[in-house]
Amino acid sequence: MTERAARRLMLVHAHPDDESINNGATMARYAAEGAQVTLVTCTLGERGEVIPAGLRHLSGAALGAHRRQELDAAMRELGVEDVRLLGGAGRYQDSGMMGLPDNDDPGCLWQADVDQAAEHLVAVIREVRPQVLVTYDDNGGYGHPDHIQAHRIAMRAVDLAADPAVRPDLGGPWRIAKVYWNRVPRSVAEAAFARLEDDLPELPFDTPATVGDVPGVVDDERVTTRIDGTAYAAAKAAAMRAHATQIEVAEPYFALSNKLAQPVFTTEYYELVRGERAGEMETDLFAGIAGIAGTEGTEEVAP
Ligand SMILES: [Zn+2]
Repeated sequence: MTERAARRLMLVHAHPDDESINNGATMARYAAEGAQVTLVTCTLGERGEVIPAGLRHLSGAALGAHRRQELDAAMRELGVEDVRLLGGAGRYQDSGMMGLPDNDDPGCLWQADVDQAAEHLVAVIREVRPQVLVTYDDNGGYGHPDHIQAHRIAMRAVDLAADPAVRPDLGGPWRIAKVYWNRVPRSVAEAAFARLEDDLPELPFDTPATVGDVPGVVDDERVTTRIDGTAYAAAKAAAMRAHATQIEVAEPYFALSNKLAQPVFTTEYYELVRGERAGEMETDLFAGIAGIAGTEGTEEVAP
């Protein structure tokens, strides 16, 4: 017999740092409540721009190795113990921004065969058996090729993992009950940027980003789920700070290498795209899932 947490949440992201920015409060909350939180990151972000002058010599594989350490440090801040690199570290490389020649590199995620890449994720899904999976929308939230590809791979893997005819050698079929995309309601984003405008003189950043720079912003009606992670605001900020090559944090704001100030959202929002919605505005990703909603701790399952 092996012991498995009753509630199991899987998140699929493109680069180290995306998980902390998008879902840091959610991950910290569920980890603290005893759920198993599994992060699958598709690349090590080898083409990311480095913020600290003292680390700008890092690029390619050296930057990837450094970002792997940042990711581990961030996960310690969030209390998340299960972190996987899709297909193993270095299997898929950062594709860089859309339209760059980097996108043509045969080793990059953008060039990956989606079905093949999804099979790596199928193996993890069948091992962990998450009831809930979180990823980006079909535009990757903001059009980055790796984010679009992470979306495609995650959604394909959800289907393949449930199909007993697909790679039975990777474990028995598993159907994920609920799939969510990362969202920010437009009204919440607009209010946060209005506050940012007032706070800007006190911040180490000169220029604010705009609502259009925030991934996953949609009209409020599309948002199905609100996770209040305000109790985990410090953990989220610490996790973001751990990604020091990519993020500069001045709570409750941050900036990427473009130096544009953005709000840190500690209430995180989602759109349910698969599975049954439990109520007008869900406040728990596991809401309505038979047998586990509101439960904590572990259950005994056959290995
Ligand atoms: Zn990213």
